[in-house]
Amino acid sequence: MSKKRLPCSTDFAGKKVTVMGLGLFSGGVETVKFLARCGAQVTVTDLKSEQTLAPSIGQIENLPVRCIFGRHETDDFTQAECIVVSPAVPDSSQYLAAAREAGIELTTEMNIFFQLCPARILGVTGSNGKTTTAHLAAEMLKRSPTPTILGGNVGRSLINELDNLTPGHAVVLELSSFQLERLRWLKTSPHLALITNLTPNHLDRHKTMHAYRKAKQAILDYQTKDDYAVLNLDDPEFEHWEACASGKAGEVLYFSTLRDSPGGAHLRADMLQLVYRAARMPICRRDEVALPGLFNISNALGAATAAFCFGAKPEHMADALRTFRGVAHRLEFVLKHDGVRYYNDSIATNPQSTIAALSAFDVPLTLIAGGYDKKLPFDELGKVIADRVAKLILVGDTSEEIERAVAQAGGGPKVEKRATFESAVEAAISLASAPGVVLLSPACASYDMFDNFQQRGDLFKKMVQNHADRQK
Ligand code: ADP
Repeated sequence: MSKKRLPCSTDFAGKKVTVMGLGLFSGGVETVKFLARCGAQVTVTDLKSEQTLAPSIGQIENLPVRCIFGRHETDDFTQAECIVVSPAVPDSSQYLAAAREAGIELTTEMNIFFQLCPARILGVTGSNGKTTTAHLAAEMLKRSPTPTILGGNVGRSLINELDNLTPGHAVVLELSSFQLERLRWLKTSPHLALITNLTPNHLDRHKTMHAYRKAKQAILDYQTKDDYAVLNLDDPEFEHWEACASGKAGEVLYFSTLRDSPGGAHLRADMLQLVYRAARMPICRRDEVALPGLFNISNALGAATAAFCFGAKPEHMADALRTFRGVAHRLEFVLKHDGVRYYNDSIATNPQSTIAALSAFDVPLTLIAGGYDKKLPFDELGKVIADRVAKLILVGDTSEEIERAVAQAGGGPKVEKRATFESAVEAAISLASAPGVVLLSPACASYDMFDNFQQRGDLFKKMVQNHADRQK
């Protein structure tokens, strides 16, 4: 195992620390709890109002922590000894600039975790399939003798689990581009780095593909001879990743659904297979994998390759693949009613993941799409919609742009635009007929109408459930 050097002090006792961004996910709350436990003098500040942050505030209100919500105060950035920056804060923040100017140490929840974690870290990144692949790798490892824990961008901070981890543990972490670009501050990369794929995403914040690629690349850049890189041979960006990994990681392994892997895992004659040195080890048949779609076979092969490097055996992989049915909001089967199946893919917040979801079905599709504008191109999605979708319901800020992309692709589905999410779901329910699928896969983030994609998916599921209950 590689031991990395620690550029920032993690001795927080008595230290004046500002947590920038409490947020509504677990990262901010867990960081505050961790720092309070370490005996730091903690200030937590967030531009969001107290009312918006209420669920998070409820979890820290008994701690000796100073809270500034609804605004930031410059002194909290220039007079602190250390600032823990949330992944949601862009680098362009004037307060970060003030802290830098004042020479204040900057870190993140993930960086603190990397510095203090005694266990081997299996890091997963990519534009699509991160959460599913990380879950699958963790499920495979949990069936092996290696004690395993899953966290990171999957929605679970592990910073307060540090005391329970040993060098014998495996930690599977989903890592976002925002977390990775700041991991560079430590000049460290995980012991195993898996990249699912790279397609345009988050260009509202990264601005260019080059910057986005560079952020993700931090997962490989500081690997050493003790480390593994796991790359997707089918990814259009494969050569870029290969160039980054070579000469750094001690071992580079590959997965593919299309061709033979020289070492790693592939799909061959409908069998998922591990390939390592002279050995070929069957995992299971493709139709035994519980998750739908070829893209999930790709995720399964990536996870298997990674889990193999950490000691999992083919039988552990097969068992996980046969039983793991996916994570909520990710192409999640909701119910079947009147011969129509309903799927919630609210997590699809970029065109590529909606394209992948559309490819998982071969029955008439009613698609609900549209949402917050992340400035991503919809041309390719337009073509796939024109090709595969029977009825398209558009809602949210990007409705017009998606409609234009579909029209440019020529012909295609019957299109309806709706002003509210509720009326879009109602339209989808009334338009769909058996044997069909109603799919919520918006290709866009939810922030134009919701706090997050979970809220959007939950509302969809509730409305579908109510519709089915009413007709009983
Ligand atoms: P992420 O964590 O990267 O957002 P998820 O595993 O949560 O990815 O999957 C989100 C959605 O992205 C899925 O519901 C599916 O539509 C799509 N997707 C999943 N895996 C892939 C893949 N390997 N390639 C393309 N799209 C994918």
